[in-house]
Amino acid sequence: MSTQNLGTEPFERVALIGIGLIGSSLARVLRRDSPDTVIVACARRAETLDAVRRLELADETTDDPALAVAGADLVVIATPLSAYAEIAARIAPALRDGAIVTDVGSVKGAAVQALQPLLPSRVHFVPGHPVAGTEHSGPEAGFAELFRDRWCILTPPPGTAPEAVAKIAALWEKAGMRVATMTAEHHDKVLAVTSHLPHLIAYTIVGTATDLGHDLESEVVAYSAGGFRDFTRIAASDPVMWRDIFLANREAVLELLQRFSEDLTALQRAIRRGEGDTLHQYFARTRAIRRSIIEANQA
Ligand code: NAP
Repeated sequence: MSTQNLGTEPFERVALIGIGLIGSSLARVLRRDSPDTVIVACARRAETLDAVRRLELADETTDDPALAVAGADLVVIATPLSAYAEIAARIAPALRDGAIVTDVGSVKGAAVQALQPLLPSRVHFVPGHPVAGTEHSGPEAGFAELFRDRWCILTPPPGTAPEAVAKIAALWEKAGMRVATMTAEHHDKVLAVTSHLPHLIAYTIVGTATDLGHDLESEVVAYSAGGFRDFTRIAASDPVMWRDIFLANREAVLELLQRFSEDLTALQRAIRRGEGDTLHQYFARTRAIRRSIIEANQA
């Protein structure tokens, strides 16, 4: 396989397949740090591509993924996970020899399963997940500082050229991220705990409150600063993206949900029995976790 593309020089031509929150934030980083890099943006809808042109996020725009990747030395797939297989099938024949293909999907096992079998062996595949985001979507929502001081997790399959991994690591480091490497399976277990379960709980709480009667609903909005407000921010996250995440990481999420239900039942019992010490010990432990997140600069 060609290694001519794997030096430390900047990418010449980057194809961003999907240019929403994450793709457009990366485009802004490239514009800022690597002005000679040609950026090609690909999306489905004309209004998305209009916005990309208006915001001057790319040198070229197209709705054809195969056209977008032609000649690119880096291809970044930044669409919802459910679009991956179709995109891989469309870009595969058009990829340049020795190109690096990466992605930003939030579930890595499913990303690898959808992409790897369809990508030709003449390209390097380095799956990635920049663990940074907001509840907003689309090219207007992106900003270059999104990635600063956050972690990016790379899950290269066995046998991936180390130089290709190093090049993708350097890309995210330039965006201000710290980079870790692990297996896709481990990534999916960790993210089920830190991201997927919290989102599921937020969606449930906000859904339950909404299902209560109209009077109560307006009171829920009025008094939301009591904790509810923070859940509504998480539950405002993109419905397509989160549908895909739960379907793609089904096993890890279901296993974790079982553990969560058991812990919830234990707390339920402590409340019913008036066991103040149990509740206090539990809450003191969780408060310490919050402090450690603040100390790690991830709050
Ligand atoms: P987004 O803002 O909704 O943008 C998605 C982009 O993908 C849009 O440009 C959309 O184009 C394009 N797209 C959708 N389906 C497509 C298809 N079939 N073919 C070509 N383009 C298509 O999404 P995002 O938040 O950037 O998320 C993108 C990826 O990043 C997801 O895989 C997600 O798991 C991952 N991620 C998200 C976050 C986060 O917090 N948001 C964090 C880390 C990783 P149109 O506008 O034309 O539909």
